[in-house]
Amino acid sequence: MIKDLNNQDFPPTQNRMAEKLDREEKLKEAEDKRQSANVHCIAWKNKACIFQRVEGDTKTLHDNIKKYDWVKCADCLCWGHFECFGVQRELESMRMRASKLFSCGCTKASDPSLAQHISGDPVDSILTDDQIRTLDYGLKAGRIMSNRLFLQQHPGYDPSLQSLYLTHLSIFKDQKTDDLSNRLLTVLSVNPTDVKEVRYTLEVLLPEVISQWLRVQFGMNRYEAECVLLKKTVIPLPPEKKDSVKTNTDSSSKPQDKAMLE
Ligand SMILES: [Zn+2]
Ligand SMILES: [Zn+2]
Repeated sequence: MIKDLNNQDFPPTQNRMAEKLDREEKLKEAEDKRQSANVHCIAWKNKACIFQRVEGDTKTLHDNIKKYDWVKCADCLCWGHFECFGVQRELESMRMRASKLFSCGCTKASDPSLAQHISGDPVDSILTDDQIRTLDYGLKAGRIMSNRLFLQQHPGYDPSLQSLYLTHLSIFKDQKTDDLSNRLLTVLSVNPTDVKEVRYTLEVLLPEVISQWLRVQFGMNRYEAECVLLKKTVIPLPPEKKDSVKTNTDSSSKPQDKAMLE
């Protein structure tokens, strides 16, 4: 009997792997040279960019979005997408254009009580039930963009990125992670036999709840929270000579302000 098997169910041969690595190298080089490329987003290197390019391919995540808003940190002069910093469009864009005061959080001292909160805070204090429901609704309605949800909805899109996310679902110890997972399943009244919904709750909602908690509790932006979750350090790009705070809304044309990235 012939079953539906995906490409990724077969381990790639050595030749195929070498070809893929070669292609990835070339794509990286080409990407680096393009001034409008997403590779210039600060979240990119930590694999936390919403528009992360798919490994070995030219596709990006959330490929339905064709326009990107960029913002530059006034302190470290790094660039990032609005979505990667978790900046809300329109209003924030106007405010930042006017004030030129956007900071990515690089100058903020890290909260020394973070580790204490991670181990000590009870599971019930990690967002309110309403905040969890709102987050769940936002994710399902597409109002909140999540790479984890996108990859779950597009199986085989970027297996290596997906496995990275799957190995960083929680910042809590196992027992606390289990307790939080159970709380989420209860709050959302998930039917335990609904495999799809259970998987969504444990692999998408759980890390998004933790990320949101870090943002609410410690004033982090999305990118900083993702770095904590992915256990990466928040390293700003080296400062540039000129300074400017502008946004660019079109990725297809060459943004003038991005020219300074060279
Ligand atoms: Zn980005
Ligand atoms: Zn900065």
